[in-house]
Amino acid sequence: MITTTGYRTKLMTEKRAQSFCKCVSANSRFTAAEVCGQNGKFFVYYEPTNPKRREFLFQKAQADRIERAKSQKDQYDFNFIGHAWIVVKKKTQEQYEVSEYGCSCPDFQNRGKDLGIHCKHMKMTEDRKVTNAARK
Ligand SMILES: [Zn+2]
Repeated sequence: MITTTGYRTKLMTEKRAQSFCKCVSANSRFTAAEVCGQNGKFFVYYEPTNPKRREFLFQKAQADRIERAKSQKDQYDFNFIGHAWIVVKKKTQEQYEVSEYGCSCPDFQNRGKDLGIHCKHMKMTEDRKVTNAARK
C-alpha cells in the first residue's frame, strides 16, 4: 500500500520499474517495494525499514505542504461560500472545495485523506480563518 512514509521513483517503463523493484527488494534497508502505474508510466514505491526514517518522511510530507501553502497562496483566489472555501488557481482557473471534510484536490483525495495529512489548499484556508477571526 502506498503511504507518504515511503519513497517513489520518477516515472519509467514497466521493464525498468520491475528491475528496479527487484533490486530494492533485495536490499535489507528497504521494504514494501511495489511497482505501480499504468499506460506505460510506471514507478516504484518503497519504504525504509527503519521506523524512525518512516516517521521522518511522514512529518516531512506534512511540512512540505505547509511550506507550499505559504509560498503559493498568492497564486490563488479564495471565496467563502458559507460551508466551504472555493480555492481557485488564478493561472489555470482550476478550483477545489475545502470544507471541514477536507479538500477535493487529488493530493488530498488520493493520499492525504487516508493518512491524516492536510493538503496545501487546506493549509492556505486555515491561515485565512485565523485572519478573518482576528479581524472581527
Ligand atoms: Zn487540496
